[in-house]
Amino acid sequence: MNDMAAAVPLSDPIQADELAQAGSGPAGQSEVTAPGSRRFELLQKNIRRLTGRAIADFDMIRDGDVIMACMSGGADSYTMLDTLRYLQSVAPVKFEIIAVNLDQKQPGFPEHILPEYFERIGVRYRIVEEDTYSIVKDKIAPGKTTCSLCSRLRRGILYRVAKELGATKIALGHHRDDILHTFMLNMFYGGKIKTMPPKLIADDGENVVIRPLAYVREPDIKKYAAAMQFPIIPCNLCGSQPNLQRQAMREMLNEWEKTNPLWIKSMFTAMGNIAPSHMLDRSLFDFTHFTPGPGKEASGDTLFDRDDKVEDGQSVINLL
Ligand code: SF4
Repeated sequence: MNDMAAAVPLSDPIQADELAQAGSGPAGQSEVTAPGSRRFELLQKNIRRLTGRAIADFDMIRDGDVIMACMSGGADSYTMLDTLRYLQSVAPVKFEIIAVNLDQKQPGFPEHILPEYFERIGVRYRIVEEDTYSIVKDKIAPGKTTCSLCSRLRRGILYRVAKELGATKIALGHHRDDILHTFMLNMFYGGKIKTMPPKLIADDGENVVIRPLAYVREPDIKKYAAAMQFPIIPCNLCGSQPNLQRQAMREMLNEWEKTNPLWIKSMFTAMGNIAPSHMLDRSLFDFTHFTPGPGKEASGDTLFDRDDKVEDGQSVINLL
């Protein structure tokens, strides 16, 4: 276990039934959990534990790192910053956090909210002003989804700012549900088994992007943000049409979360449990040159055959 995992012990005394009560219920539930209550304490502990665990599992933060925490003003980014600051206060690993908001000049963007919040909590910050809104409106026909160009522009700016600030890692607030939605979008529409990884080398080949909330469920983030009364900035100021494919994935997973929550857990576990020899990707496994021999393949030729019975949760890592 590395230092960050030690800061938030995996043998956390929280019990599963307590966690369920604390807010890990089905997606869409959003009852407010008052700070100071047992439910809030459990919810907060769970988010911190899962964040510490993801950071440890993927070696996201090392001694001396400068973390640029990207702040959109949404619940995810506030929860990430809040949790990183907690871990910073308890981890033996020393790292710095700089909160960065990119003001994209969307009409009605309340530009005072984030600076006031940063001042109040005492975090170092930078507000970057770049009018990507006008560029996007100019280039994309009305009524079309503008997110992909907008995100590309935003990424380029954030990578540049990270270098200016001397940041060694760029932290994004994507969570478990974003990872699942992206996985399914790629599979259903992109013909790829691919998602948002918890840690990656950015497109520019120089920056390292991390997603500390990779194990945290979106409903828990929403509950936490509501309980903490973070000053949320709405994400619809740009007037972009919603991405209908992503929306369809979200609705499907929300439905499964209610009817078959084990599917979601198993799917998430599966992303970290890939058997290249049991897939069809010839670039990952050499199907031409392998030779028969004992002990060659740990998982052998066992699969879920037509009449196999799979016990509930048989091999699913119960992260939540
Ligand atoms: S919702 Fe608006 S601000 Fe967000 S990525 Fe899409 S176009 Fe950009």
